Amino acid sequence: IFISFEGGEGSGKSTQIRLLEQWFRHRGRDVIVTREPGGSPGAEEIRALLLTGDPGRWDAVTEALLMFASRRDHVERTIRPALAQGQVVLCDRFADSSVAYQGYGHGLGPDFIRQLWKLAIGDFKPDLTLMMDLPIETGLARAGARFANVSAAEDRFEKMELAFHRRLQQGFREITAMEPKRCRVIDADGDVETVSSRINTVMEEFLAG
Ligand code: C5P
Repeated sequence: IFISFEGGEGSGKSTQIRLLEQWFRHRGRDVIVTREPGGSPGAEEIRALLLTGDPGRWDAVTEALLMFASRRDHVERTIRPALAQGQVVLCDRFADSSVAYQGYGHGLGPDFIRQLWKLAIGDFKPDLTLMMDLPIETGLARAGARFANVSAAEDRFEKMELAFHRRLQQGFREITAMEPKRCRVIDADGDVETVSSRINTVMEEFLAG
């Protein structure tokens, strides 16, 4: 089973992935946790190109191509082999992040990103995607951003940043609306245990088929 976690900044993905990993282990399942960009030796090298240095280092299309180059390596070298061995694969972000970040956030458009998706990995996609949904201000405050509420976001940079996060959220919601069976929204506003039990409920449902 291939399960991805998606959501904006501060949505608690990494904490919840670790808890779900334990949940599967308690049920005797063999499980691996991986992440994007990265998740295989080659993809981690591409991650370093993407996430270090000047944020404006790559133009949006180049960034999207690097994301899919890293994703293809991750799928071929890590995810498919794990699935072939019957492991549960939990992935912190997958191709929906490219649709949201590069497609909606950076304005390349979802169709352009879906074409790259098809070229890079064909129809490969998660069996289940947990969309961690949280008010933008809460997520940014959790992520330690400089402002905790919209009205404090006075300067131009902060407004751009908020507009970007709104586009991201809009993107994740449209992706969910297109594939409601694969994408399940998790209310990520709450303490760790509350959110974890919401995820466990969705997992029980999913496994019951
Ligand atoms: O929240 P997480 O630690 O997974 O964030 C990694 C960062 O990588 C994101 O905040 C985002 O800026 C960036 N990213 C991106 N496009 C993707 C995946 C991640 O810009 N497709």
